[in-house]
Amino acid sequence: MRSLAFVLLALLTVLTVLLHRGASAAAKPGDLRLSAIASELARRHLTIRCEGLSGALTGARGESGRTGFIGNQPVSVSYLQEGICQTLHAYTRSLKAGGNCLLPCGQPLEIAWSLNTLAHESYHLAGVRNEAQTECYALQAIDFVARRLGASAEQGRALALYSFDQLPGRMPPLYSSPECHDGGKYDLHPSSAVWP
Ligand SMILES: [Zn+2]
Repeated sequence: MRSLAFVLLALLTVLTVLLHRGASAAAKPGDLRLSAIASELARRHLTIRCEGLSGALTGARGESGRTGFIGNQPVSVSYLQEGICQTLHAYTRSLKAGGNCLLPCGQPLEIAWSLNTLAHESYHLAGVRNEAQTECYALQAIDFVARRLGASAEQGRALALYSFDQLPGRMPPLYSSPECHDGGKYDLHPSSAVWP
């Protein structure tokens, strides 16, 4: 009888652990829409997860997103600050609600920063480690990300130009490169005159 009780107790413990794991995994699923955009940019299947405090665009160390590498290989998950995810989803909602300002009607800087963060981590996920190179690629993907969230071609282009003008000066020098220009080493489409 004692051994059966022991077995039952062990089973219950296992069940409890499994249920607990299930619950904690379900509490924070990947963000489907943002994961799909990152996967398109990086050309592989990826997961974007949102973390941190509601409304916060940066974490305790000033970072808006993070991507781990094992050796030179990026992992398949990136983390964005909760406020970045919220800003991107709010931008989609405002577009769906008929927001037709050329630049976002409200909070253009926060929206540009958030679009840039998703694009930046996507290029890390694609395997780019150098921060200036990663950021230059991200700036060239602003219009792509904006359009995936529902912006028109004109709105996407306006956000790309605005981001190129406004964002680099707000980042540490490590994130800028003189090669980040039309026809430069980091131009993803050197034969195209569209920039960024
Ligand atoms: Zn980075």
